[in-house]
Amino acid sequence: MKECIFCKISNKEVPSKVISESDKSIAFLDVNPLSKGHTLVIPKSHSKTLLDLESDGWCDMNALVKKVVSIIQDKLNPDGFNIGLNMNIAGGQAVDHIHIHIIPRWTGDGGGSIHTIINNPPEEALESVYKQLSE
Ligand code: 5GP
Ligand code: ZN
Repeated sequence: MKECIFCKISNKEVPSKVISESDKSIAFLDVNPLSKGHTLVIPKSHSKTLLDLESDGWCDMNALVKKVVSIIQDKLNPDGFNIGLNMNIAGGQAVDHIHIHIIPRWTGDGGGSIHTIINNPPEEALESVYKQLSE
């Protein structure tokens, strides 16, 4: 997509600190890192979210995530990681080209877990939600 910053990074029109890449995906350092080694993994071709990315592309991204985690573990020796994505405005997505954040963590770094993102439990019983979701 013409005006998409991550498409430009993927095409190498905009410079980035590339850590690793595959045929379909590329991993580069986040320009505003939340921790040392904070890396983004994106598909090389434009998709806004998981819903418009084909399964192959998603599998390829995740294979690259695994490779990058291994590189970071070897080189920076963090004590843990948070790995995830923000989807749509409600989910905190600022760049409309799907990206997986790999955030290295160190004991005592002051950060939280995935449980600190949101605390909005449903009023409905779990059984009711299960009925709505089970196929
Ligand atoms: P989001 O909130 O969409 O999940 O995260 C977007 C991320 O992309 C942010 O962490 C931000 O720092 C990063 N980012 C935005 N623009 C650029 C850029 O031009 N280069 C790089 N390397 N990272 C970017
Ligand atoms: Zn794009």
